Amino acid sequence: MSQRFHTVILGAGAAGLMAAAHAGPGTLIIDHAKNPGEKIRISGGGRCNFTNLHTTPENFICENPHFAKSALARYTQWDFVELVNRHAIAWHEKTLGQLFCDGSAKEIIAMLLAEIGKAGAELRLQTSVTDVTHSDGRFRLTLNTGGTVICDNFVIACGGKSIPKMGASGYAYDIARRFDHRVTETRPALVPLTFGAATLDAIKPLAGVALDARVTCAGTAFDEAILFTHRGLSGPAILQISSYWHETQAITVRLVENALPALRRARDTHAKRNLSTVLGDLLPNRLAQHWTTAHHLTGNIADYSDARLAEVADTLEGWTLHPIGTEGYRTAEVTTGGIATGGIDARSLQSKTVPGLYFIGECVDVTGWLGGYNFQWAWASGWAAGTAIANRG
Ligand SMILES: Cc1cc2nc3c(=O)[nH]c(=O)nc-3n(C[C@H](O)[C@H](O)[C@H](O)COP(=O)(O)OP(=O)(O)OC[C@H]3O[C@@H](n4cnc5c(N)ncnc54)[C@H](O)[C@@H]3O)c2cc1C
Repeated sequence: MSQRFHTVILGAGAAGLMAAAHAGPGTLIIDHAKNPGEKIRISGGGRCNFTNLHTTPENFICENPHFAKSALARYTQWDFVELVNRHAIAWHEKTLGQLFCDGSAKEIIAMLLAEIGKAGAELRLQTSVTDVTHSDGRFRLTLNTGGTVICDNFVIACGGKSIPKMGASGYAYDIARRFDHRVTETRPALVPLTFGAATLDAIKPLAGVALDARVTCAGTAFDEAILFTHRGLSGPAILQISSYWHETQAITVRLVENALPALRRARDTHAKRNLSTVLGDLLPNRLAQHWTTAHHLTGNIADYSDARLAEVADTLEGWTLHPIGTEGYRTAEVTTGGIATGGIDARSLQSKTVPGLYFIGECVDVTGWLGGYNFQWAWASGWAAGTAIANRG
């Protein structure tokens, strides 16, 4: 039996729900998971960092740095804040413009479900597409539940590859290729970095230590916290740089800013202190102790010449590490790379070659920084496709 819909949206995540709320009558949204918006539910430690006040196109990685501009400008962080306010969801700014729910991420899911309910869209869960054909401007989708659905607009919103155990399938890329869209190299991003045995042996005893640092890779730098773990390095600055890091590249960690003046001041005022105590003022204690042992920094600071202090400062300002990999899609918050933007219209997110086919959210080659930017892209691209469909009639 065939059912007719104006629009079918594949994926009831952030982007798909947003598109469904705006695509107009005759919209069906399907998802193979038991519940919609599962990644929203677990995001931001259960409080959903739903946008960032400082969102600009510069916070996104894409083959074409101009691509995201149109959607981000037409549906901004302020538009989403207005929606959240309209649903009386309490929120707060945590840090660096990151907005979180005061209560629970489930409130954002409930808000989106209320919006799609108001729009009259139908949601079908535990449903997937087993075949897609396209002829006479229509898509014919065969469903795993039996039967087919025919639609004029087919919106691909089924996300990237991160967290496969939550239903991430990479299916969006298969569909894109099936319609001759190019897919750029995909990689786990916003993910902890891993290290070879020798470096890991040094890192492991420090598991649990966190500090603010600057992490740099190939000219890109982030000033946020880093965290030592049993498996390597994590924390916001490491997750951010992981989106830029490629195999064989080194990363540099600045553990102490302006280390040399700080060490000189300590030598002037506390000449009799040993270096490990001095470093304890600049670094968390466990790290200070590890650093003094690893770099054989014995004796009082008074015994250190200017040249020797400069060497110590250099190690603290430019700790160079060679990651061997990442923790992979198992823990990555997002997938970087994806459906190439060259084949997609930036205003509507519609395929340039297959009218009625749309790509939105994380499956597109647009990756945001950590801090609410990825949801803002999901909302903006979902809104852009939804309103384009509604206007297409
Ligand atoms: C642990 C974690 C925390 C995060 N925290 C934040 C945060 O606080 N702020 C932020 O901005 N970003 C955060 N992110 C990133 C954010 O969740 C994603 O960027 C965003 O969810 C992408 O939205 P999307 O709609 O494109 O994809 P998704 O939200 O992944 O939705 C895709 C949907 O498609 C469905 N699907 C997949 N394959 C199929 C298929 N073959 N058939 C049918 N359905 C399918 C999935 O079940 C899913 O419901 C976090 C990610 C993770 C993993």
